[in-house]
Amino acid sequence: MNKNELVNLAFKAMENAYVPYSHYRVGACVLCKDGRTFYGANIENASYGLANCAERSAIFSAYSNGVRKEDIEALAIVSEGKTIAAPCGACRQVLCELIGFDTPIYLANREAETTTSIRELLPMAFTNEDL
Ligand SMILES: [Zn+2]
Repeated sequence: MNKNELVNLAFKAMENAYVPYSHYRVGACVLCKDGRTFYGANIENASYGLANCAERSAIFSAYSNGVRKEDIEALAIVSEGKTIAAPCGACRQVLCELIGFDTPIYLANREAETTTSIRELLPMAFTNEDL
């Protein structure tokens, strides 16, 4: 599966966003080396702080199905905002542990896309090496 196909799956996942408060939809898709894919969408709650981001939804779904860091090929995260949305701080920390530093992360909106990684997004990361 190429980058554009993975990004398109993330846009498909975005259709399932539950965002009655922000109306800001985000989708994500984890691609495994064996070709499996796991969707995620942002899920909000009337208690706002309990919302879950799309990329965490996707990676938690993958892990819930037995996937581990070494099984993951790439992650796509998409939004319909005016700018390309990068993961929030909490997601950067979670992704650092669950996908690692160098797994490609494709970020896109309807107009543009870029490729990044946790190494770029979370310098001086706190990891289990620090414990
Ligand atoms: Zn987040």
